[in-house]
Amino acid sequence: MVVALQANYLEVELTDPPADAPSRLLCTRRTRLNHRGAAVYVGDRVRVEAIDPDHARAVVAGVEPRSSFLSRPPVANASCVLVAVAVEQPAFDADQVSRFLLTAEQTRLQVRLVLTKCDLLNSGALSRLQTRLQGWGYDPLLVSSQTGLGFEELRMQLATVPISVLCGPSGVGKSSLLNGLLPGLALRVGAVSGRLQRGRHTTRHVELHAVAPGARVADTPGFNRPELPQDVSNLEVLFPELRHQLERHPCRFRDCLHRDEPGCGVTRDWERYPMYRRAVDELLGVSRPSRGG
Ligand code: GDP
Ligand code: ZN
Repeated sequence: MVVALQANYLEVELTDPPADAPSRLLCTRRTRLNHRGAAVYVGDRVRVEAIDPDHARAVVAGVEPRSSFLSRPPVANASCVLVAVAVEQPAFDADQVSRFLLTAEQTRLQVRLVLTKCDLLNSGALSRLQTRLQGWGYDPLLVSSQTGLGFEELRMQLATVPISVLCGPSGVGKSSLLNGLLPGLALRVGAVSGRLQRGRHTTRHVELHAVAPGARVADTPGFNRPELPQDVSNLEVLFPELRHQLERHPCRFRDCLHRDEPGCGVTRDWERYPMYRRAVDELLGVSRPSRGG
C-alpha cells in the first residue's frame, strides 16, 4: 500500500514482506505507468518489482483497482471521512461546519463528525451543541486533546476502518489529536526529516499513519471554506436529516427540490432547511443562463 507520496517518490508498505526485505520501500514508478496516465495515490494497493533490499528501494509496476477516490486530499480506498471542528477557538461556525460536512458527504463514504476542544465548553453548552448536531443527522464524537476525552472512542472508530481521512478547518486541533493518538508522531511534526523530507507543513503532502493493525488515517492540509456542491439534484442526499425524511416520506415527484413543489413531503422545521434552500437557490441562479435562450 502506498502510504506516502511526494514528488516522484512513493513510499510503499509491504503486506507480507519477504524475510530479507524491509517492510517499507521507497519507490519510483515504471515509466509505462506514467505514460498511460495511470496515476498512483496514497492508499493505493500497488504491485512492486525490482526490490533492492539493501537500499529499501523498488519500482511500482501496477495499481490495483480502487474502491474510492478523494481528490482533496488525494487519497485512494478511504472508507470513512472524519470531519473535525472545534466547539471553541475557533468558535463553532454552523455555515463553515456544514460546508465541510457537505463536502465530506459528497464522497458517499461514511462521515463522522468530531467535536474538538470540548474542554473549552461547560457540560450544559456541550450537550446543547450535541443535541443540535443530532438534529443535523450526526452523532458527534466529543474529544479533547487537553483532557483525553473521547480518545478511546476515536481510536476505536479509527481501528474499525482500513483508511480514514481526517479533515476540518485549520486550528481545530487535528495535529494535536493525531499526536495524542500516535505516540512518536510528535517527533516528526514540524521537523523536516527522513528520506522523503517529510514535514506536515509541506504543501500537498499526504501521508497515512497507522493507528491499529490494518487501520490507517490520513490527515489533510487544512483549508477553511470548502465550496458548496455544484449538483443541485444531488444536494438532498448530502443532508442526512433530509435523507432520513425522504426515506420515510418520499415526495410525489422524483426530481422534487423541496421548495414549494406540489406533493413535497419534506417539513420546514429543521435547522438547516434555510441553508439547504439557499444552496438550491444559489445553484439554480448560477446555472441559469444569464441572457437569451
Ligand atoms: P490543526 O491546525 O487542526 O492541526 O490544529 P493544532 O493541533 O495545530 O491546534 C491548534 C491550536 O489549538 C494549538 O494551539 C493547540 O494547542 C490548541 N488545541 C489543540 N487541541 C486542543 C484541545 O483539545 N483543547 C484546547 N483547549 N486547545 C487545543
Ligand atoms: Zn420534496
